Amino acid sequence: MKKKTFVTRQQIEEITKTYPTPFHLYDEAGIRRNAEAVKEAFSWNKGFREYFAVKATPNPFILNILKEYDCGCDCASMTELMLADALDFDGSHIMFSSNDTPASEFQLANEIGAIINLDDFTHIDFLEQTIGKIPETISCRYNPGGVFRMSNGIMDNPGDAKYGFTREQLFEGYKLLKEKGAKYFGLHAFLASNTVTNEYYPMLAKQLFELAVELKNEVGCEIKFINLSGGVGVAYRPEETPNDIRAIGEGVRKVYEEVLVPAGMDDVAIYTEMGRFMLGPYGCLVTQAIHEKHTYKEYIGVDACAVNLMRPAMYGSYHHITVLGKEDAPCDHKYDVTGSLCENNDKFAVDRMLPEIERGDYLVIHDTGAHGFSMGYNYNGKLKSAELLLKKDGSVQLIRRAETPKDYFATFDCFDILKKMK
Ligand SMILES: *Cc1c(COP(=O)(O)O)cnc(C)c1O
Repeated sequence: MKKKTFVTRQQIEEITKTYPTPFHLYDEAGIRRNAEAVKEAFSWNKGFREYFAVKATPNPFILNILKEYDCGCDCASMTELMLADALDFDGSHIMFSSNDTPASEFQLANEIGAIINLDDFTHIDFLEQTIGKIPETISCRYNPGGVFRMSNGIMDNPGDAKYGFTREQLFEGYKLLKEKGAKYFGLHAFLASNTVTNEYYPMLAKQLFELAVELKNEVGCEIKFINLSGGVGVAYRPEETPNDIRAIGEGVRKVYEEVLVPAGMDDVAIYTEMGRFMLGPYGCLVTQAIHEKHTYKEYIGVDACAVNLMRPAMYGSYHHITVLGKEDAPCDHKYDVTGSLCENNDKFAVDRMLPEIERGDYLVIHDTGAHGFSMGYNYNGKLKSAELLLKKDGSVQLIRRAETPKDYFATFDCFDILKKMK
């Protein structure tokens, strides 16, 4: 399928009069349409809630849009908890799915009434010592080990992942938590990342539902929710077929009817913690070609770099690129599209067939709405870009300004470089 941008060259030329490139741009209409579809897909489940994985796009304006669809926040750090709390998400709308958790973060999670999802058996005692009790509602993260395989051959490796309780630890853990006063239980697992198949959630749900029935029968605990976590992917490549959230919701409903309902567990809420699926396609990185270089290869140098989008450098991930205004031109030039870091992996594309690019052309790097801006760092002292929201009415709102050198130097309390700056 041909991948389309949600902005035109004309719009970008208008926007760049006010906001220079590079910037991340988010599509409000797309975010809303998708959030609505997620809600609908799981509307068969009375307690359903999506806890948006804040790490994917930690922007208050975005979180507030999702809040209108009753989404909560899935947090894993102090500042993510602070952000959710500052936006008045109440405790029942904050899931704390952390790992290797510092005591201070358990404390804050407890103070704001977040639902705590424990990553490890030893965290039971650690939590009790830290906050002086075990909360009434508590969740545990399961890791079945081994490999997780889907019928299209895609697999992931839970056995290699640092997260979660083993099966034995889970049974022991629920027992212990119950002894310590927990009343309501959640069960969570994240077994495969960026799955582009409608089968992942239903397969995961079946495993978790069967386990929940066993836990209920063997430990006698009341399972209040099952958290399918994240992992629902997006079609980064044009040849991939995007996930159909309605088919996914329907697939989960079927196994719910098969496994949970006959076990008398027809009141269990389904929770999700999607990040990528909620935002990925509804954001892009807009950058301008500032150089062309002809050496052993053909290079296009752009004004964004891996600081703005790390996935290609870090994972070799594919992000589709559209040259605005040249959507229908033949892709008859082979380029490496590079940023300016002193790192040879700072490339948004390698050997990519694209239309002929001239200096000044605007490039849209697709699907950066999740794990895009947020993964950024400050290598080479490069500064993070602005984030803009393309609103439903076509206007543009600055939802995070670009960093300035002042921001970069702000932590040098002991060496007041700012005074020396012109
Ligand atoms: C990263 C993460 C998510 C979101 O994952 P996506 O792939 O963006 O859907 C959800 N839950 C936990 C615990 C995570 O670490």
